[in-house]
Amino acid sequence: MPELPEVETVRRGLAPVMEGQAFARVRLRRGDLRKPFPEDLAQRLDGAEIRHVGRRSKYLLVETAKAGRRDVLIWHLGMSGQVRIYAPGDAVPAPGPHDHVQFDLASGATVVFTDPRRFGLMTLCPADGLAAHPLLRDIGPEPLGNDFSGPVLAAALKGKTVAVKQAIMDARVVAGVGNIYASESLFRAGISPNRQAHTVRGARAEQLAGAIKSVLAAAINAGGSTLRDHRTTDGGLGYFQFSFAVYGRAGEPCPGCDCDVDITGGIRRIQQGGRSTFYCPRRQR
Ligand SMILES: [Zn+2]
Repeated sequence: MPELPEVETVRRGLAPVMEGQAFARVRLRRGDLRKPFPEDLAQRLDGAEIRHVGRRSKYLLVETAKAGRRDVLIWHLGMSGQVRIYAPGDAVPAPGPHDHVQFDLASGATVVFTDPRRFGLMTLCPADGLAAHPLLRDIGPEPLGNDFSGPVLAAALKGKTVAVKQAIMDARVVAGVGNIYASESLFRAGISPNRQAHTVRGARAEQLAGAIKSVLAAAINAGGSTLRDHRTTDGGLGYFQFSFAVYGRAGEPCPGCDCDVDITGGIRRIQQGGRSTFYCPRRQR
């Protein structure tokens, strides 16, 4: 599932191709993904200028203008969505069974959205109503923004008795921290995922907010190296190799650990809220 760094990588791939361009033709190859497309989606986008490709949490926000009307395309990649970019003059292959949306741009470039499981979403919102849109209005601070800090995190966790790992995956607390980066951030901060959320305050909250920022930034950097190479690989944006410290590493020693795995069992995997959590019981308290 694309998490925030993957979505940001897609945004960085799309921005130079789309911004300042116009949609020449929007082709929808079915009527819905997770939800039906707005009936007038293609009509409202055809011919529209593309002002900006932004992101809020895991939503791409494509700001458009057409005949004095400003709309934002709200675009979620779902569980399995991938984006491919074809430069002007590149041969665009015949659409496969999961290539559901194709944007032909005035420049001659083409953007194809492939979504095998169809959990993705595209909808349109007038620009002046974006902040109040039901998909966006309750989302907490962006983790990489200046609005997110230790004190802000501590305030959001105050009074919560749920495990801190589950709390930081709540988008109202902080935007876009999914299952993988929740485990990674807690490891980096030395905080047990089982700790009650309200006990993460003061210096601990500073450490956790800093760890969330640094682990997401490192992952985005890893995505950036994929971006530089993507024309030479298979052209797909949104998935890349990032080396996790604890995620998916049950039974291994955690990085920097001097413990004997035969005795300690190494990185432990537990279930929290139906999702796997990975952590080091020795170094995370
Ligand atoms: Zn360890």
